[in-house]
Amino acid sequence: MSLTASQSLFARSQLATPGGVNSPVRAFGSVGGTPSFIADAKGPYVRDVDGRIYVDLVGTWGPALLGHAHPEVVATVTEAAARGLSFGAPTAAEAELAEAVTARVPAAEQVRLVSTGTEATMTAIRLARGVTGRDLLVKFAGCYHGHSDSLLAQAGSGVATQGLPGSAGVPADIAALTIVLPYNDEDALRECFAEHGRDIAAVITEACPANMGIVPPAPGFNRAIREVTRDHGALMITDEVLTGFRVSPAGFWGLETGWRPARLPAVLPSDLVGAEAMLEARQEWCRGQVGDLDYVPDLFTFGKVIGGGMPLAALGGSAEIMGHLAPLGPVYQAGTLSGNPLATAAGLATLKLADDACYARVDAVAQSIRTYLSATLSAHDIPHVINSAGSLFSVFFGEEVAESGVSSYADAQRQDEDLYRAFFHAMRDAGVALPPSCYEAWFVSRAHDDDAVAAIFTAIDTAVAEVAQ
Ligand code: PLP
Repeated sequence: MSLTASQSLFARSQLATPGGVNSPVRAFGSVGGTPSFIADAKGPYVRDVDGRIYVDLVGTWGPALLGHAHPEVVATVTEAAARGLSFGAPTAAEAELAEAVTARVPAAEQVRLVSTGTEATMTAIRLARGVTGRDLLVKFAGCYHGHSDSLLAQAGSGVATQGLPGSAGVPADIAALTIVLPYNDEDALRECFAEHGRDIAAVITEACPANMGIVPPAPGFNRAIREVTRDHGALMITDEVLTGFRVSPAGFWGLETGWRPARLPAVLPSDLVGAEAMLEARQEWCRGQVGDLDYVPDLFTFGKVIGGGMPLAALGGSAEIMGHLAPLGPVYQAGTLSGNPLATAAGLATLKLADDACYARVDAVAQSIRTYLSATLSAHDIPHVINSAGSLFSVFFGEEVAESGVSSYADAQRQDEDLYRAFFHAMRDAGVALPPSCYEAWFVSRAHDDDAVAAIFTAIDTAVAEVAQ
């Protein structure tokens, strides 16, 4: 039997690079089979090197809110490339992108651009430790915040588990600084603070967890994190790397609090003489926007959509907290490619195109796929539950999860992974690319038009009938 082009390339890549991939989930380890090597992607479709075209529900793991290779974004990046690939010096576009973030999430009074979500969360934690002078970090089981040492600690059982290294190579002393709590468990959170409160620098949480499948926060859970951290002098870090600018212009925080972006007051050249007064005016404006909201975290992290498919991420918070970062303050952070001109161009173009019509379309598409999938599964008596957050959603198979729902990592681990594996391959054979893991969200885009949605429905019919047998 002759090999497909993807199989040949995978064999070659496995010699060249560990596991044949540059990020583990791409290797299809949890679903089995050979990953498709991609030749190109356009709109809602990806094409592999064998010429097979798939309707894509992975969306490059989040960034492709507008679909692949949006002509305006590509043109903007191409123009930027012609002006120079990297300067290592400030540009106007960096200020413009930071302002675009502040206008959407005013608690991010100031924004630092970095290149990956991992850098954003790693820096946010260093900043929280630098500001509070404390070492302990609290994270929740099943939340993913990138691959820096303190964030790989996994769930243990029980109420407040001291983190164990989630990866070889993480020194035990570093892992011991991370406390892992069960998600959506307010009692565990309060008990943890009652015991360790004076030593905790920050709680980091996904605004809505999307890396154990979608597991929305129980009503009031984010507010409880805010209250507890404030009461104990710790910071709240809300990680919107995945949800930011995707589930609403102001991310999941915007969905939960009802905040709608406003226009940031313009900075006039004549104002430049009064830099301090201007900063105060900016802060006043920002605080006026968020003052009455249900909860306001201290720090936000962003990634994925903000770079429109290019390596760009960010962290933002109050000017006081952000002022602890170098060069103003003692908390060091830097990056040769931070604020890269191609990445900022892609990010700005993407945010400009992410208008109300875009969010309305992705919400409607997601809703129609969820409804169709659930109805088809029910018609074939396949127990399941679908969790969603705005346009993000994921399906969990199995009787246990269908009965009691999924509100924590422990719940998510009770799903029928074998059934997802079979469903994934049946969908793929029918021309739809799903995330190659049952612990990931499904991503739709502005480019998923009616033809793409119809193709997904047809694939669902075929795949569900197949796995039901
Ligand atoms: N935070 C969250 C919520 C994420 O989903 C991810 C990546 O999926 C990260 C952080 C890390 O981002 P990156 O892969 O760009 O380092």
